[in-house]
Amino acid sequence: MIKPETVERVRLEADIVDIIGSYLPLKKVGRNFRGLCPFHPDRSPSFYVNPERQTYHCFGCGTGGNVLGFIMAQEKLAFPDAVRFLANRLGIEVQEQTSTRNRPLYEACEQAAQFFESEFGKSRAAQAYLARRGLGEATAREFRLGYAPPGNRLRAEARKRSWPEENLVRAGLLARREDGLGDYFYNRLMFPLFSMSGKIVGFGGRVLDDREPKYLNSPETDIFRKGYNLYGGYQARSAMREQPPLLVEGNFDVLSMVDSGFANTIAPLGTALTANQALLLAKFGNRTTVCLDGDAAGAKATRRAIEVLLACGIEPRVAVLPQGSDPDSYVRQQGAAGMRQLLDRAQDFVDYIAGAADTGSVLARRQVLREVAVLLARVSDATTRELYVNELAGRFGVDKYQMMREAGGAGAAPATSTQPTKMEEKLVAAALQSADLARIVRDFCLAEAVADEQLKAVASMVADHCDEAEFGAAVLMNQTEDEGLRRAIARLTFVEQGLPDAAEFEARARRLRAGWLHGRIVAAHAAGKEREAERLSKEKNELLRVSGEERSGS
Ligand SMILES: [Zn+2]
Repeated sequence: MIKPETVERVRLEADIVDIIGSYLPLKKVGRNFRGLCPFHPDRSPSFYVNPERQTYHCFGCGTGGNVLGFIMAQEKLAFPDAVRFLANRLGIEVQEQTSTRNRPLYEACEQAAQFFESEFGKSRAAQAYLARRGLGEATAREFRLGYAPPGNRLRAEARKRSWPEENLVRAGLLARREDGLGDYFYNRLMFPLFSMSGKIVGFGGRVLDDREPKYLNSPETDIFRKGYNLYGGYQARSAMREQPPLLVEGNFDVLSMVDSGFANTIAPLGTALTANQALLLAKFGNRTTVCLDGDAAGAKATRRAIEVLLACGIEPRVAVLPQGSDPDSYVRQQGAAGMRQLLDRAQDFVDYIAGAADTGSVLARRQVLREVAVLLARVSDATTRELYVNELAGRFGVDKYQMMREAGGAGAAPATSTQPTKMEEKLVAAALQSADLARIVRDFCLAEAVADEQLKAVASMVADHCDEAEFGAAVLMNQTEDEGLRRAIARLTFVEQGLPDAAEFEARARRLRAGWLHGRIVAAHAAGKEREAERLSKEKNELLRVSGEERSGS
């Protein structure tokens, strides 16, 4: 858990124009900034960033939010991870709330790892499998490989040794099945997954027979989250301080490479490289070598890894394997020396992309330029980005400013912000900008009176938070999990024309409330609820009497 103070600092220090501007080129238009939307195929820039309110909104696809929302959408991160991501970029130390709640989970994983290790010592099949793959014993021991036998043997062991079953369930090692608790992993070669501090947080298991899935990882638990750990990260930590990390695809790639002396090898644990994993690597310096499988899927994953690494301030180099090989097979066929040669020929990411395309024709070169421009937009540090631009402009023989523009796309006609603006929308939009107006929303119970469901939700949120020390669209967005609500708030920060001032606001609020009361009175009469109709009429007359006095200037 991240301390609220950290979240607050990140929110205050992260400037939305800087952050979004590092992903896509933004152009100042009036008080806002505009660019091509990264979330839908956008031909004319319809993506707006509002520096005053620290919000963004796309008039094309309707997406929107604050700076944390943008990082969540762009980097596909959960809220706390988006906070960590931005904190890293801003150089803010993340203070975590330490909890002892999870200690039993670490214990359960350690107990299970010991059980799997001892079962490995007894299993001919598991040992024969590793021998077939040519893996040395020392590496197997260092990575604490194990074996999960068939049948519910871990459960039996837990009962025998009185390990609390509940902890094994919480750690994802026992699963509830129709016939009761059973082992999550069985008849699998087991790979313990370590945190960077060396605690086992989960497991990966590979079948020894033909069952599917071939690889199975622990389910998400309180100590194991997808995309958050690197296979081999803990074992590679000192090697990665000496030389750049070497990113490969699978667990066996890591084991074979380490076995052959490449101790700096790590893998992303069955997912494409995530920003959080890249941030772990960033702690070891600003370079990483990518060496993924030599096939179409590997090429695609390489492209994605380049993007993620660049966004996290790491300069990627790419070592390309021959078609059909992976690091595991290549190092076993060519030996450590052959692998070393291949790694020495690693290209920088631009050469890699240019090399993967046919650059014989002008059109093909243009296409490469375009692709590289998209990647460059991901480079978070402006100076670094400029250095790349200079170098590329030279290499492609294009003007530097042309290259900059290339990253920007065509500056087509502005998207006009003529959303249907009703009185309700203007009231709620104005209330988002001022706690004083928000209090009027609360006092007149406008959330009830607003017809549009989304506006109603925003109005009710505005009313709930109007007395807090800090008030505003960006703050409110951090207080809701509801994506639709966050978007609605962001959209409203771009409603600027014809917003009422304070006096006008109250008069309109009264009219809105009175109109709503009128509808309720009619309904109450129709339902024969005369007492209720009378009570509502009194409220309505009171409202109109006050606004009548205001109008006559008293
Ligand atoms: Zn969009």
